[in-house]
Amino acid sequence: MLGGSLAVVAATVSAVPAGAQVAKWPVHSLERPAPPVVQPAPADRPAEPPADAVVLFGGNGLGEWARPGGGAAPWRDTAEFMEVVPGSGSIVSRRAFGSSQVHVEWMAPLPAEGEGQDRGNSGVFLMNRYEIQVLDSWQNPTYADGQAGAVYGQYPPLVNASRAPGEWQSYDIIFHRPRFDESGAVETPARITLFHNGVLVQDNVTLTGPVGHGARPPYEAHADRLPLGLQDHGRKVRFRNVWVRELPERGE
Ligand code: MG
Repeated sequence: MLGGSLAVVAATVSAVPAGAQVAKWPVHSLERPAPPVVQPAPADRPAEPPADAVVLFGGNGLGEWARPGGGAAPWRDTAEFMEVVPGSGSIVSRRAFGSSQVHVEWMAPLPAEGEGQDRGNSGVFLMNRYEIQVLDSWQNPTYADGQAGAVYGQYPPLVNASRAPGEWQSYDIIFHRPRFDESGAVETPARITLFHNGVLVQDNVTLTGPVGHGARPPYEAHADRLPLGLQDHGRKVRFRNVWVRELPERGE
């Protein structure tokens, strides 16, 4: 029966576990192919945020940011950018967000120092748990699921659209938060789409859980809104023009 076979197909499709393509590769596998390099358009001046955006850094101080446990954000603050003070700790936005469009511009230090994961490492943490890797991936090989534009430990970027260190780069992120049922089980996993320097590098990927180093931890139920995090990973990465537009909840 036609209806029966359609139902079987639908069941088969929905039975593919979230992140099945991730599970093919051990976390941080060096065998995983490196994404091809794509030269993006040259860096431009920062674009004006949309009128309805919540501007988290626009050169007007660090007032929107804090230490994770509270207290003023300890990073360097200038009229143009904020910069990681190595060892001072990661920072979080004072406001909390759910599903969002997020724009972040960042710059890896010049001259480049360190190799692999130790070069220009930072990160954009959606809901302070789901990391899009920030790394100087300009002529700097590392494991594929840890380079710039990776959903760390899960999805390498489709291509390497990095600019050189010392040049401003942009992330435009579409993030759909995970949803949990009343027992705390995952109802809908998180999804991420990412443009790096205007180039699509994550195409609506389904996250297997929060990020971890050398691990893929399972989801743990959390609030519907949580702060945006920026990582101190020991390198003087700069950020500017950080803004968020919360997306309407559509019951997905
Ligand atoms: Mg990082």
